[in-house]
Amino acid sequence: MAQGSMELDFTSLLAATGFSAAVLSVVLIAAWRMSRIDRFLLTCAMGAVLIAVGVGFSALYIASAAPPLGAMAFALMLVGLATLYGTARQFSAGASPAWAVALASLLSLAVTVPPILLGLTGVGFVLGYGASAALLLMTAYHYWRARREAPGIIVSIAGLYLLVGLSFLPRAALVLLEWEAVIPGQPSNWAENLSLILVVAAIPGIGAMTMSLSQIRLVRTHRLEALTDPLTGLMNRRALFEAEGGGAVAVTLFDIDRFKAINDTHGHARGDRVLLLFAAALRECRDGDDLAARIGGEEFALIHPLSSPRATPEAALRRAEAVRARFAVLAREKEGMACTASAGLVIGDGTAGLEALLAEADRALYAAKRQGRDRLVLAQAPPTLAC
Ligand code: GH3
Ligand code: MG
Ligand code: MG
Repeated sequence: MAQGSMELDFTSLLAATGFSAAVLSVVLIAAWRMSRIDRFLLTCAMGAVLIAVGVGFSALYIASAAPPLGAMAFALMLVGLATLYGTARQFSAGASPAWAVALASLLSLAVTVPPILLGLTGVGFVLGYGASAALLLMTAYHYWRARREAPGIIVSIAGLYLLVGLSFLPRAALVLLEWEAVIPGQPSNWAENLSLILVVAAIPGIGAMTMSLSQIRLVRTHRLEALTDPLTGLMNRRALFEAEGGGAVAVTLFDIDRFKAINDTHGHARGDRVLLLFAAALRECRDGDDLAARIGGEEFALIHPLSSPRATPEAALRRAEAVRARFAVLAREKEGMACTASAGLVIGDGTAGLEALLAEADRALYAAKRQGRDRLVLAQAPPTLAC
């Protein structure tokens, strides 16, 4: 009677495991349909489906004790766990997990299924539980490695996988302690129940956190898009204002000369290529702490913090001139065009905000245009300082 109620407990826990794994897979597939770039959601859903079906075979095995059903249950569970391991790798490395899943599945099936089919169920269970623990611990490890992206959530996911993985070890140990190569049907002991309780408790948490990882990635991608100029990949105006940290800075505003004529003569696509060349010149000439942005059609800004002794107004001026010179060289070499740019430079001591400095640099830029273009003008400086 006591044995009967024990089996009933285990069967209920098994049913709860299968049900929650099935629900998880449905929810993950629905989430993946909303955000198809996050393919790890789909991989995780496939792992959950395999585990849910495997749990169904476990129930059949408990009812019949037929080794092929036990082998099938283990096979599905191990491939499901290997798929969860692949999910962790896909999440952390971004690459397709197909090879990792195939290899992990093959290795774990190779050690588990043959003994069970040969009737050596005790041996099969010990090795199957060991393989399950190994797959879950490797899954935990791969999430742990990727924890920088969202530490709280990822460490929690890794912790849950670790906990569930560890719970397979007493299951293996208790079967091992019986010293029986052949055991009749599913083992029934406290370790079996404890492990399933942990699995049932962990599945909703793992599911919710896996989905929030996808949401975090989605928000990050949108935010990055909102701060990036799509043509050049440089920061846009908004990003520049967010990134600028105050303090003394040199702000240079560049504007490509007679750019409209380039578009009109050579076409918009060629105009775009010229814009890309200006962005390349900015990237090549800027220093580590400089911020480079495209802030309008053919207008670019370079912000040079004057925080270190090396970062002087003269260095900022040289850098701005280097950008203009490099742009002219790139346009000639890559597009066979004689292109120039004008620039206005202002030195801020940290009292004026970026908006005011950009307006001041814009006035200097205007002066450069009026003076004949292809030059740099220093704001609020006597005309002799204009380059
Ligand atoms: P100036 O020397 O006075 O600066 O003359 P400009 O022709 O460069 O200035 P203007 O403001 O008259 O023309 C800027 C042109 O830049 C007009 C616009 O069609 C073009 N433009 C703005 N954004 C883009 C873009 O993303 N790609 C291309 N190809 N052209 C753009
Ligand atoms: Mg302009
Ligand atoms: Mg222009």
